[in-house]
Amino acid sequence: GNMPLNRREEASRMAFEEAKQYIPGGVNSPVRAFKSVGLTPVYVERGEGSRIYDIDGNSFIDYVCSWGPLIMGHAHPEVVKALQETAARGTSFGAPTLLETAMAKTVVERVASVDIVRMVNSGTEATMSAIRLARGYTGRSKILKFEGSYHGHADSLLIKAGSGVATLGLPDSPGVPEGVAMNTITVPYNDLDGVKIAFERYGNEIAAIIVEPIAGNMGVVPPLPGFLEGLRKVTTGYGALLIFDEVMTGFRVDRGCAQGLFGMDPDLTCFGKVIGGGLPVGAYGGKREIMEQIAPSGPIYQAGTLSGNPLAMAAGYSTLALLTPEVYTRLESLGARLEAGLKRNAQETGVPLTINRVGSMVCPFFTEEPVINFETAKTSNLELFKRYFGKMLDQGISVPPSQFEGMFVSAAHSEQDIDDTIAGHYQALKSL
Ligand code: PMP
Repeated sequence: GNMPLNRREEASRMAFEEAKQYIPGGVNSPVRAFKSVGLTPVYVERGEGSRIYDIDGNSFIDYVCSWGPLIMGHAHPEVVKALQETAARGTSFGAPTLLETAMAKTVVERVASVDIVRMVNSGTEATMSAIRLARGYTGRSKILKFEGSYHGHADSLLIKAGSGVATLGLPDSPGVPEGVAMNTITVPYNDLDGVKIAFERYGNEIAAIIVEPIAGNMGVVPPLPGFLEGLRKVTTGYGALLIFDEVMTGFRVDRGCAQGLFGMDPDLTCFGKVIGGGLPVGAYGGKREIMEQIAPSGPIYQAGTLSGNPLAMAAGYSTLALLTPEVYTRLESLGARLEAGLKRNAQETGVPLTINRVGSMVCPFFTEEPVINFETAKTSNLELFKRYFGKMLDQGISVPPSQFEGMFVSAAHSEQDIDDTIAGHYQALKSL
C-alpha cells in the first residue's frame, strides 16, 4: 500500500539552498522550483516503475513522470538495458547510425501524416524548426497559435494574447522582441470563429497554425468536435500549413498519436517527450514535399551536433518498441479508473472539481465550469490547488505542481497504485 506520511524535507531544503548559489533559482527549468505552490522542491534520488524516492527518504506514486516522457514508468528494465548496451559502444559520433533509420521508420509507420522525420534534441527545437520550415516553405511570416498553449521557449512561440479577438501577440517574456511578437497571432483555444476572423484579416500573411491537438499546458483541454477539422479546412483554404504540436500527446494518447485518435491529417507534426523515452529528444516530420525543403535536401537550415545520438535513439526506440496496442488499452483503463475515483471523491467531499481526461492525461480543475480554453481553465481556485498539492505530497502522491499541467499515468502504475491514489486524494480533499 501507499505509505501515508507527512513529507520529510530537511535534506531537500538544504539541497535547494545550496543549488540556489550555483544555478539560477536553484533549478534548470522554472516549474521545478515549486515557486507557485510555495513549497520546497522534492529532490529525487531515484525512480522505479510508478514511484520516485527522494533524498529525505519519502516515496511518492508519481504522476509527473518527467512531465510526460516516462510512459513506461521510471527506469524501465528494457530501456535501461538498451542505454547500457548502447553507451558501451560510444555515446555520440556525429555520423549516421542504423538506429536513426530504425527510429525514423517506426515514427513513419505509426503516424499516418508523417512521410519523413528529422530528429532534434527537445520539443522546443522541434516546434522552432517546424515554424522556420513553414515560413520558408510558404514565404509568409505570421503564425497563429492558441492562448494558453505552450510550444516551448522559442521567441515566436513565447507570445501571449493581445487584447481582443484574433489580435497580434505581445512578448510573454522580456527579451522577446516586439517585432517577433507582431508576427504571432493568438486566438482562444477551441474558438474556430476567432481563427476565421484572423484569417479574414491576415490570411495571405499566415504561414501556419500551430496547435496542440489536445491542449496540455492549460491543464488538459480536449478539442471540441469540429475544431481540428475546422483548422484543417481554414489552413488548406488559405494555403497555410497546419502544424500539430504533439510533443505531449505524441505516442501518449494513441499509437498513432492524437492525429490517429481523431483521424486528422496535419502537414507537419512536432514530437518530444515520449519519443525520447526520458532522454533529450524531439522530432519534426510530415509531408515529404515540405520536409525536403530542409537542409541538406533543401535550402532551409536546421542542424544539431547531438541530434539523433545513439543514447537518445536507444531510449526512444526501446520505449516505442514497448508501446504495443495493449499498452494503450491499459493506459485508457487506468486513466478511466483514476477519473472515476477523483469524481467520486469530489462528490463525497463536496469540493467542486471538473475533471478533463484523454487516455492517460488527467486533469482535475478546482472549478465547476466546463474547461474548454485558457479563460475557463483560469476559473480554477488556485489557492485550493496550492493547498491540495501539498496535501497530496503528504499522502505520498506526486502530481504536477501547477493547475495548468495534467497528471500522466504510466503503464507501470498498477490498479493498486490508482486505488491508493484515489484514497489519498480523498484525504487530501477532506483536509482542504
Ligand atoms: N510543446 C508542447 C505541447 C509541450 O508540452 C512542451 C513541453 N512541455 C514543449 C513543446 C517544449 O518541449 P521541451 O520542454 O522539450 O523543449
